[in-house]
Amino acid sequence: MTTNLLEVRGLQARYGPTQVLQGMDLDVAEGQVTALLGANGAGKTTTLRALCRFMVQTSGSVTLAGERIDSRSTEQIAQLGVGHVPDGRGTFMGLSTEENLQLGAYVRHNRSGQAEDMERVYHYFPRLRERARQQAGTLSGGEQQMLAIGRALMGRPRLLLLDEPSFGLAPLVVRDIFAIMRRINREEKVSILLVEQNAKLALDLADNAYLLETGRVVLSGPSAEMQRNDAVRRAYLGE
Ligand code: ATP
Repeated sequence: MTTNLLEVRGLQARYGPTQVLQGMDLDVAEGQVTALLGANGAGKTTTLRALCRFMVQTSGSVTLAGERIDSRSTEQIAQLGVGHVPDGRGTFMGLSTEENLQLGAYVRHNRSGQAEDMERVYHYFPRLRERARQQAGTLSGGEQQMLAIGRALMGRPRLLLLDEPSFGLAPLVVRDIFAIMRRINREEKVSILLVEQNAKLALDLADNAYLLETGRVVLSGPSAEMQRNDAVRRAYLGE
């Protein structure tokens, strides 16, 4: 039986007067990958921001492993095990790869084990080891995405919120990064909530998916069912 790591009920989010999320319910099962699909402007990025209370005003209940986190600060939410890989990746371009990874460990109270954690990141992303002393701003787009995921892993998350990891990357690079995300999910038992424009990629990786339209969930279910759904096939899978 699967239990829910994350339970979201009635989540609303707004930027000043602009209401974006209209009361959303969503679950992420422990150990699984859940995808959040939707057109441009549907509110996918805003959902991830709302879950970690980053740059958006929110209401509603968000429970992580049985504990309410919806009135916690962004930093506390990170400390409780939610790693956010934002759109734009949030890399510090003037710092080296290694320094960016070290910053990822700042959310932990106890930083012992940082060297092992960095080894674990390099195990999944050997390219980052080769680029350890290189300035992040000079990395390729794919390497910067790897660094953003690696930095979140340094916080030892239970849940990773990934915002459009495929954005702007060549298909072969995307394939590699998605394969590594699958391994991280399975081997490290990190649950993932994945926002993706590319619905095919997302549904291939995810166990479950939600479809968002103008700030509301309009469809949800196991990925295999979503892949068979006519509306999803027409609007999001280009069939
Ligand atoms: P995309 O794939 O284009 O990023 P999305 O589904 O992630 O789409 P959001 O970025 O969450 O959508 O945006 C949802 C709505 O919120 C859009 O109408 C957008 O214009 C609005 N919005 C996003 N950020 C802000 C902001 N900082 N201030 C005001 N409105 C915003």
